[in-house]
Amino acid sequence: MNKKLPKVHIIATGGTISGIGANRLDYTQYSDTGNRYTIEQLIERIPEVKNVANLTYENLLATGSTNITPKDWLVIAERANTLLQDGIDGIVITHGTATLEETAYFLHLTIKSNKPVVLTGAMRPPSSMSTDADINLLDAIRIASSGNAQNMGVMGVLNNQIHSAREIIKMNTLRVDTFQSNDLGFLGFVDSDGQVIFYRNSIKTHTYMSEFSTQGLDQLPRVDIVVAYSGGDGLLIDAVKKNESQGLILAGFGSGTLPTVMKDSALELVKGGIPVVLASRSIMGRIVLTEKLRDEGFITCDNLSPQKARILLMLSLLQTSDTQKIRDLFEKY
Ligand code: ASP
Repeated sequence: MNKKLPKVHIIATGGTISGIGANRLDYTQYSDTGNRYTIEQLIERIPEVKNVANLTYENLLATGSTNITPKDWLVIAERANTLLQDGIDGIVITHGTATLEETAYFLHLTIKSNKPVVLTGAMRPPSSMSTDADINLLDAIRIASSGNAQNMGVMGVLNNQIHSAREIIKMNTLRVDTFQSNDLGFLGFVDSDGQVIFYRNSIKTHTYMSEFSTQGLDQLPRVDIVVAYSGGDGLLIDAVKKNESQGLILAGFGSGTLPTVMKDSALELVKGGIPVVLASRSIMGRIVLTEKLRDEGFITCDNLSPQKARILLMLSLLQTSDTQKIRDLFEKY
């Protein structure tokens, strides 16, 4: 142990970054075998890390992120909060890229610390040619060790690019630069010289300033997402009505609009006291709360993606089901 270096803890959860393929050209079928490297094995591949941080680590989960659930978010949040209180300087979470943005945003709203928490994954498994697993893990540890990364909220890193958890979104099915920060841009870079450099901050409320807490929780309110499409009707919204859902996110067209039949069905939900948040299937831009939408009782999601609006609504519902109070939370976070 080098006392001058920061203490970084790695929470491994699985994902492509841990995947073992049949051969060096297996970029697509490795997840079917379920074979994985442990976090110990992944760290052995990057001995350079000895000069960056004093590492501790654990294999909390070993799963593809397609199977990560809200219950897992609660377990990860509790573990990370405990470690940060116990004197760890920064946390790295290895995670599948499929739902990395969702776990990241949940933690962004529920971690009670200004220390760096960084999620990373890989698009090419460690067993493959030109894998991005090693450099992404090293980069995440560099960020978690950097004094520059304090107060930035939860971050995601792949391809040397650092994203805020609020904005990160998986944009490409296969490329190593899959993550983008919608139309707002990266926070900064872990660059080729190993420097961690930030150029902007995400100013919406997060982590140590957030009012949301997961303490004592073992589940979250159920919220579903329905997407609009040409000719869409009320079928899926009716299913939500019959279900135990406590809220609905509607991913509408462009500015949050919907086919009239879908909207009528959603209005019934609103009248029944179920909060409905309008988001967009377009990836960038805000949804404006027009006077009409306000009068009808809808909530709008600002510029959050539907999957992140769902997380904010789940947490909001722990506090209130009042429409105006939920609108205020969507402005703040
Ligand atoms: N199937 C993987 C997952 O766990 C994809 C990835 O990690 O890139 O999300």
